[in-house]
Amino acid sequence: MPQEMTAPVFRFAPSPNGALHLGHAYSALVTHDMARAAGGRFLLRIEDIDLTRARAEYEAQILDDLAWLGLEWGRPVRRQSEHFATYRQALDQLDALGVLYPCFATRKEIAQAVTSPAHPLDPDGAPLYPGLCKGLPEVAIETRKARGAPFALRLDMDKALALALERNGSPLTFTEIDGDRQEVIQADPARWGDAVIARKEVPTSYHLAVVVDDAIQGVSHVTRGRDLYAATDIHRLLQVLLGLPEPLYHHHRLITDAQGRKLAKSQRDTSLAALRADGLTPADIRRLVGQAI
Ligand code: GLU
Repeated sequence: MPQEMTAPVFRFAPSPNGALHLGHAYSALVTHDMARAAGGRFLLRIEDIDLTRARAEYEAQILDDLAWLGLEWGRPVRRQSEHFATYRQALDQLDALGVLYPCFATRKEIAQAVTSPAHPLDPDGAPLYPGLCKGLPEVAIETRKARGAPFALRLDMDKALALALERNGSPLTFTEIDGDRQEVIQADPARWGDAVIARKEVPTSYHLAVVVDDAIQGVSHVTRGRDLYAATDIHRLLQVLLGLPEPLYHHHRLITDAQGRKLAKSQRDTSLAALRADGLTPADIRRLVGQAI
């Protein structure tokens, strides 16, 4: 069950790899307004573990856009790239449970191993990991590591799930809230297969960094778009394995373009910066996304 928290904590967690668009503005406004209505805190977290795509100028622009929208957030702002040592500790904890294994396979090798058009896909539409490096003999692992071969760490999903069920004492669930409504949802982490928990180039993944940070920041309410709904299954699994508290979840609707497509950072026309330059006001933005005060 989610923990009872006296002072609710909410967070908006953008990745600084592009300009914020209307979809981000909506997410930030929903989160901010829920925090205010609940008498809680609104935190900002910069999710910059992708060192090749994150840029300081995007981060500066995010802060500027949010301030322009009239939002105020708690300090200090947490920047994930400053906490790799913390994620490494969580990895060590998972490793000690025996639920991780190194994967040396390249994207190309994985794609080549997935030959059947009927190969199962994960919720993001990527083929489930075909198990190339699963069960590698210890000596093969050590030889490759000694050669300096880069490797990711994957979750052995079967083992992880069995251990989490044992620890939890009941099937994994999460609580989705919407206004006054609460619904307990069954989590199905197995549909992600042996997911990457630490990438080759950094000692974490989106999934690991999010659950570790939400716990460290005392986040009681995770608010984010419905595109991350399925990710919650694996987040619950990691929370149980790492002994972290369970937040409440609210997955809000996505802002779409005129063709009904989810907005993307590459569509420059809906960036907040472009809309500002066109003379729109923060009140206009609220109206456009249906989040008027
Ligand atoms: N950083 C993620 C994004 O930009 C959001 C992560 C989350 O809210 O859990 O979509």
